[in-house]
Amino acid sequence: MDDISVAIASHELRNALTVIKVCTQVLQRSLRKEQGISLDQEVLDGVHAKQLSYLDTIMSQTNYIDALIGQLLDVSRLRSGLLPLEYRRVDLVALVHQVVRQQSQITADHRFMVHTSDETLLAPCDETSIRQVLENLVNNALKYSPPGTAITVGIERHPPEIVIWIQDEGCGISEEHHAVLFEPFYRVCTKGSSWISGLGLGLYISREMINLHGGRMWLKSEPGKGSTFTFSLPLERPQEEDDETCGNESECVAVKTGGKP
Ligand code: ADP
Repeated sequence: MDDISVAIASHELRNALTVIKVCTQVLQRSLRKEQGISLDQEVLDGVHAKQLSYLDTIMSQTNYIDALIGQLLDVSRLRSGLLPLEYRRVDLVALVHQVVRQQSQITADHRFMVHTSDETLLAPCDETSIRQVLENLVNNALKYSPPGTAITVGIERHPPEIVIWIQDEGCGISEEHHAVLFEPFYRVCTKGSSWISGLGLGLYISREMINLHGGRMWLKSEPGKGSTFTFSLPLERPQEEDDETCGNESECVAVKTGGKP
């Protein structure tokens, strides 16, 4: 990581920690005040509701810090070639449905749709990584599109690949950013999105994971017309020299990933 990247990551982590610190101080003060004085039930209920909302903020910021640290660790594993990939034949249609179901349970602000003409589509891949890629792209669609709009996840077989796309009706991204969007720490700052937090690592990590699987990732987007992020995964995995087959059960193959200098 260069100095600028360290500064960006530190800044983002410190912002989240500051929110946690302030909420904790407010809670401390509130609980101390409450001690030793008797309040009627209605006032007490109001105080407890405020305390709970501070605890909710602390929890969400803690989860955010956890996710940021996870991304930094992923970058380090990708660069050192230590990201473990465990290949199995995974039903990607089922995986898409799972991720969409989970995300739609978290938010009621968007309409989710799954578009596919297949009930099952099997491909050899590391399920954890592909789930992470899907979650990241769906999460971005949520972050960068207004409430009430639709998010469609599509999956189709296009031999020799399976193609998966995530389409939103959000702010979109102008052409000048497309070539650099997948660079680490790259973020597009528009008036409408400058308040949205993030490190600019999700797309970089996602594309690297797809590349490691022998797939590709690309986008189609225009400002004001939404974005479609698409990735492909090969239906068959080319055999590699440094594969370590771990038994024939579930066609499980542990793979050392190629590191970057
Ligand atoms: P971040 O955590 O900052 O969102 P990403 O690497 O996932 O990092 O995305 C990089 C940048 O790409 C974002 O800051 C955002 O400007 C832009 N972006 C990603 N996905 C979308 C999307 N679906 N719609 C509009 N802009 C997007």
